Amino acid sequence: MKIIMSDRTVYAFSSDMKPVLEVLPGERVLFGTKDCFAGQIGSEKDLCTEINFDYINPATGPLAVRGAEKGDLLGVVIEDIRVGDQAVSVAIPGEGALPGKVERPVTRMIMTDREKGVCSFAGITLPLRPMIGVIGVAPEEGSFPTGTPGAHGGNMDTVDIRKGTTVWFPVRREGALLAIGDCHAVMGDGEIGCSGAEVPAEVTVTLELVKGASAPWPIAVTEKEIMIIASEDSLDKAAEAASAAMTDLAARSLGLSFEDALILCSLVMDLRISQVVDPKKTVRSVLPLVVLPWEKAEAALSGR
Ligand code: CA
Ligand code: CA
Repeated sequence: MKIIMSDRTVYAFSSDMKPVLEVLPGERVLFGTKDCFAGQIGSEKDLCTEINFDYINPATGPLAVRGAEKGDLLGVVIEDIRVGDQAVSVAIPGEGALPGKVERPVTRMIMTDREKGVCSFAGITLPLRPMIGVIGVAPEEGSFPTGTPGAHGGNMDTVDIRKGTTVWFPVRREGALLAIGDCHAVMGDGEIGCSGAEVPAEVTVTLELVKGASAPWPIAVTEKEIMIIASEDSLDKAAEAASAAMTDLAARSLGLSFEDALILCSLVMDLRISQVVDPKKTVRSVLPLVVLPWEKAEAALSGR
């Protein structure tokens, strides 16, 4: 297994970023990831108002996948997310979904127990649900801070990006250039306080490549569902983009008219809020795989 240590980080997904490692499709890679504060918060005395915001959301990588070219899809199969012993979550004045309500910065440490699969906050036991907040590839042009989600992925903060899920990214630059960071021990849809249980982690993935296939947004495939993850300036726009992309994919995959695909999606597609606190807001459109199998979606994305 190849390894990228957590000190090989980027703070932006850029079209011109340089890979720190190259692997072949099918290879297994472990990404060591720092927490979103780059380890600057180590106790409840450390307030996020006092840390250096030049070092927020480090993403480990980038990893080049040999043979990946513009016009391909890169599949990232998430095999494991091993979270650290101590996570942190914060409230920050002026941030989150209720920015005017936060009167003072608060830091809370959250201890994890991997053996039992739980963590504890305020005396309440919560199940561990490890997930990846930041995961993406190089964009076609320009540079996106790792805190911003978009068509390249990035800070999508989507709870379904977890062990067992495969995330498909449209490749824009040679090698795809994958970077991963900002893992959470647990997070709720919305992430309303602006942080999950922020934690360093070891993320193990394998890479797959589908040549000659494209998608407008990242697509996640879990055990039971397929979802398109769209990020726009507002929740309304993100909901529209996620809906349009899934309706189009369902129509092409299942041989339906736009109108019939729209009715189908109206019957069985869920819109779920991923996060409402990042520079762009993220919504995912979700269909059961029994309705839209990945094989049919892949064929449609490949123009077959
Ligand atoms: Ca995040
Ligand atoms: Ca985070």
